[in-house]
Amino acid sequence: MIYDVAPETVPCAVCDRAARERVHRGCRDRMADDLRDLPQLYRQLAVALLPGRRGDGPAVSSTPGSSMPSNEDALDLRSRGGIEGVVGGWARDLCDRENWDVPAYQSVQAIVDWACTVLLTNLGVICDEHPAVKEIAQELGKVTAQARGLVTGEKQPRKIGVCCPCGRTLKITIDTAGVRCPSCSAQYGHSEALRLPLAERRAA
Ligand SMILES: [Zn+2]
Ligand SMILES: [Zn+2]
Repeated sequence: MIYDVAPETVPCAVCDRAARERVHRGCRDRMADDLRDLPQLYRQLAVALLPGRRGDGPAVSSTPGSSMPSNEDALDLRSRGGIEGVVGGWARDLCDRENWDVPAYQSVQAIVDWACTVLLTNLGVICDEHPAVKEIAQELGKVTAQARGLVTGEKQPRKIGVCCPCGRTLKITIDTAGVRCPSCSAQYGHSEALRLPLAERRAA
């Protein structure tokens, strides 16, 4: 039996599956979908945060005045460093590489819109050449999944804040595999992380 000689394949730079291109079609399409959805998700998260309009939003407790984890997460995603941190960071990185000007937008929403457009427009170059394309794909996937989960009300594992002895609050979930403190580099396994003292919830 004669097998066709497979066309030259290399591992996809994102998922490591054999691919003919540096980043295989599926991974590239997923990134494109994320970048197309994020500006809209950013706006939908604001609606999810409006008091009295939670009817079709994420399931939240009706306890008045309580600060719900899903709202905190939505706020985190909408703040500077949330969705903006991911797409804005990589868009600025791309502009630096290409010697393009970075517009001085003030609003987070404007930065998210700009960054998603820049990254989407240049997705081909990113997939063909960017040394960190795997990190870009992973970060986009993670932040988009978080935002989609909050907007559609899909159950997210609840986050708990615990205190590292160095003073840093670490966000973990009950099924965490482990966590590393970004401040002091202490590494905690599952049961160690859950044994850390609970952090006081900060006012948002
Ligand atoms: Zn792939
Ligand atoms: Zn620490």
